[in-house]
Amino acid sequence: MAYLGNSARTKEILNKYNMSAKKKFGQNFLIDSGVLENIVEAAGVTKEDCVLEIGPGIGTLTQYLAEAAGRVVAVEIDNTLMPVLSDTLSEYDNVTIINDDVLKVDIQAVAKEHNAGKPMKVVANLPYYITTPIIMKLFESGAPIESITVMVQKEVADRMTEGPGSKDYGSLSLAVGYYAKPESVCDVPPSSFIPQPNVGSAVVKLTRYDRPKVEVSDEKFMFEIIRTSFNQRRKTLSNSLSNNPAIGVSRQQVQDALTKMGINDKARGETLSLEQFAALSDILQRTGAMLN
Ligand code: SAM
Repeated sequence: MAYLGNSARTKEILNKYNMSAKKKFGQNFLIDSGVLENIVEAAGVTKEDCVLEIGPGIGTLTQYLAEAAGRVVAVEIDNTLMPVLSDTLSEYDNVTIINDDVLKVDIQAVAKEHNAGKPMKVVANLPYYITTPIIMKLFESGAPIESITVMVQKEVADRMTEGPGSKDYGSLSLAVGYYAKPESVCDVPPSSFIPQPNVGSAVVKLTRYDRPKVEVSDEKFMFEIIRTSFNQRRKTLSNSLSNNPAIGVSRQQVQDALTKMGINDKARGETLSLEQFAALSDILQRTGAMLN
């Protein structure tokens, strides 16, 4: 089986099965062998690894992963791609395809069944319409995941990797930064895909920390504070947090907490680091705030 990572083979396979890319599933197939090699190299895949791929499509990245990894488990929602994958991956005996919605799959059970419960590496060219739910599920499910190396929309890559003060800094940067060390791998132009997406893309690598980056007494409460702070980015923290009854604090209580932390009491969320959000969350909780 010849590699799929080029335009001629991709078109040949799509024609053979009389298929076209489905927009509703975010299908944009990679046709750039340089980018495919970069993804596998950045993920640091070795024969010791079990890789979880999300959305194998017609099997392009899967072929590269099957050659580099010990085992590949790929979850694909589109059942019309099953015969295509049997064909394009017929030479590999280390690939398992699960035909399901990744948001419904028990990732912990996958790790148990295919990797004796040991950490897996996630490698994927993600469907852009559900990037954030997929990343958050991978982190929040508590499944054993060592790293996540994924192609995402460039704008989302920037939101994952930027720090305080940047226009792209927000709840996604903080959620990702709580669980993992983010790194940019490379930018990828629309011409590397069939069909071409109408946005730029980028590959990011998120290496999971053994324990979350900061200690906080109530994770859920901190993320409620973070979400509220960035819902109305231009508002001061004291205004936005006191407006959310689920947080249950007054303007004065927020201002006092900020002053205690040595932060200007008119500060906005976009200037606070993850460590500062954790500290603010702990202080507000001690002042009697309650998350309903
Ligand atoms: N890996 C292929 C490649 O690089 O050429 C295809 C990547 S394409 C951007 C995204 C893939 O994710 C598609 O094959 C799509 O059908 C699949 N997909 C979309 N939503 C999904 C979901 N909820 N669960 C699993 N796969 C999904």
